[in-house]
Amino acid sequence: MANYPDIEMYIDGHWKAASGQPVINPADESVLGTVPTASIADLDDALAAAENGFAVWRNTSPAKRAQVILKAAALIRERVNEMAVAMTLEQGKPIEQARLEILRGCDIIEWDASEGVRLYGRVIPSEPGMRHTVLRQPIGPVAAFSPWNFPMSSPARKVAGALSSGCSIILKASEETPAGAVQLVRAFHDAGLPAGVLNLVFGNPAEISEYLIPQSRIKLITFTGSIPVGKHLAEMAGRYMKPAIMELGGHAPVIVCDDVDPAATAGTSVIGKSRNAGQVCVAPTRFFVQESIYEHFAQSFAEKAKQLKVGNGLDPSIQMGPLANARGIDAMETLVADAKAKGARVLAGGHRIGNRGYFFPLTVLADLPDDARAMNEEPFGPLALVNPVKTLDEAIEKANCLPYGLAGYAFTRSAGNADRLADGLEVGNLSINHFVASVAETPFGGVKDSGYGREGGTEGLQCYTVAKNVSHKMM
Ligand code: NAD
Repeated sequence: MANYPDIEMYIDGHWKAASGQPVINPADESVLGTVPTASIADLDDALAAAENGFAVWRNTSPAKRAQVILKAAALIRERVNEMAVAMTLEQGKPIEQARLEILRGCDIIEWDASEGVRLYGRVIPSEPGMRHTVLRQPIGPVAAFSPWNFPMSSPARKVAGALSSGCSIILKASEETPAGAVQLVRAFHDAGLPAGVLNLVFGNPAEISEYLIPQSRIKLITFTGSIPVGKHLAEMAGRYMKPAIMELGGHAPVIVCDDVDPAATAGTSVIGKSRNAGQVCVAPTRFFVQESIYEHFAQSFAEKAKQLKVGNGLDPSIQMGPLANARGIDAMETLVADAKAKGARVLAGGHRIGNRGYFFPLTVLADLPDDARAMNEEPFGPLALVNPVKTLDEAIEKANCLPYGLAGYAFTRSAGNADRLADGLEVGNLSINHFVASVAETPFGGVKDSGYGREGGTEGLQCYTVAKNVSHKMM
């Protein structure tokens, strides 16, 4: 299809085509192309390449490494428009959101590259005649697994973290949205990255993870995806004593205090909730609104949700695209039916739009009982759940009641409230009065079942290094 690139694997500096499965456009269910399936021989080639690539890259000066990485980011910036079209075709998000994702991916790559030259160790004050020096060394070849909801920025986080720290990487990107990763890798190839430092494979996710994780050449696992799969991969990593970065699901609470403008906050919430059709691990989902502004907030939210223009993301006037796959439609229908049966009010949306393309409107449900499935299972789609609370303490208790702990949000003008929320909410990322959960320079990741390890910021880069203490007695 025009505008959609050929999907190939990239192993040891060479592109490799192979037969595989179709890539589907979620806006019209047409076939965009074919994603290859890696054989065991391909994975063995990638492992050998990553080992050789690591030997080259760890011995490349940090300044030279940064030059190559920054050049790749510059190429991506030049190519942002063509990349955005491919991303909207395969994933569905509105074209402007696709552009922003790619530019954000560049921010991450550039920040990591610039920080990679400052991965300082420490000299620890010690007794005379002794020097303890902590070296920060790249951990080694990384096996990375990225999801379908952010086809470019999620792989970019993993590739930038690994490469900026001096590691090599085998990336197994999403088979459902592969073009983002292919175009990312192409930029690194064109920027002159040495062969073997970055390798890209596709195929059967379970077979690939089960083959790569136990390999002694792989020193770190990084996975972004669902909690059940993350737990399975973490168990495997543990069995082989591999450290892991696990960026898993969330069910983000949003606490709306009665000192804010309910209509304005509802407007901001519609934008935050509809981003990528709610298919975001940090999507705002459980809104706990103080009673005195509850009905005003809920009605404004519903009104604005109904005004959203939903359609094919290639149309620049569209504000929310289709869900990325048919599984999403089934999940939304099941959760809405369950909530309605348990007494929730449907204030907006609730039904699939049309029957070609995976379109589902922004759906606002109010007054959900605690046992509604949507209140307990991550919807990963355009469902907003609005419930009243009396006090801030009640809101914090409800926010913390699930095993999830990725992002949380709050709206308040009170520094006192903000302080209590910062103290009390069990999340890895709290955003107050806005919906941006992370930027390139801040650490991002979860607590509880939402995972461990961090991506982004200095904390993120440190995950790709080991601290080696050299204790030197002077002679
Ligand atoms: P899923 O559990 O089937 O798959 C999630 C991701 O893991 C996919 O990218 C898939 O290719 C990969 N995967 C599955 N089994 C694997 C294995 N054995 N080894 C390696 N990778 C494997 O769920 P889904 O239907 O694709 O997505 C929906 C759920 O996934 C959501 O509920 C959400 O929690 C989660 N998800 C989270 C993120 C995130 O950013 N944290 C991103 C995408 C999906």
